[in-house]
Amino acid sequence: MKVKVISVLEDNYMYLVIEESTRDAVAVDAAVPKRLLEIIRKEDVVLRAILTTHHHWDHARGNEELAQLFPGLRVFGADERIGALTHKVTHGQELSFGAIRVRCLFTPCHTSGHMCYFMWEDDSPDAPALFSGDTLFVGGCGQFFEGTAEQMHTNLTQILGTLPEDTVEPENEMVKEKLAWARQRDDEDLPTVPSTLHEEFLYNPFLRVTEEPVQRFTGRTDPVEVLRTLRSERDNFKKPKERPNPQAMLAFDWGLFGPFLEKK
Ligand SMILES: [Zn+2]
Repeated sequence: MKVKVISVLEDNYMYLVIEESTRDAVAVDAAVPKRLLEIIRKEDVVLRAILTTHHHWDHARGNEELAQLFPGLRVFGADERIGALTHKVTHGQELSFGAIRVRCLFTPCHTSGHMCYFMWEDDSPDAPALFSGDTLFVGGCGQFFEGTAEQMHTNLTQILGTLPEDTVEPENEMVKEKLAWARQRDDEDLPTVPSTLHEEFLYNPFLRVTEEPVQRFTGRTDPVEVLRTLRSERDNFKKPKERPNPQAMLAFDWGLFGPFLEKK
């Protein structure tokens, strides 16, 4: 299973997952058909399906055009508002594309029909991949447009938080390291995804709502209240003007780290 990361729309990513024995491919959040078609051609693969995390235009707006270009293309998602949707999926549903297997993980909150996709190949040395849409970011989580802090807490702890909490020293050397890394990648015009869930547990405050420093920062102890406060701090944070390249700033959630580091 090979995952091509394709940056789109200056602040976002879409993905092409390739089944290497059959050269079939599955796109995740096919927002910009032109870019996707270039990669499909270059990789010499056949697009079989699109998995859409949610209906927002920066994730789903390419669906109609691709469905016209590829008759019979299957478009999966959990929300009727997703363009060209052919297969509505539900939580826990499994799909397979050749050797590639997918488990659908329903994570309503950013939108009421948000689905994450966990993908792997049996008997493969490749790590499984989680396509988390606008639920979980590198170092952040999505805005609560159509849901509550309670829902996001469930999403992050029970649905996506399947790996054990890490016990590494929390006083966030990890945050500083990741920030330095992201600035470097940003300067070199390289993507700041992917990350690993393991890493996210080490520095993403939205996944660390039971950690003492995060609770101290928010002045709350109840995990849902910690999460609600973090999100509202993030929503009110203005991006620093001196950052020259806005591209990776949105993909990498700088905003939360700024006040988080300053306040300590
Ligand atoms: Zn969105």
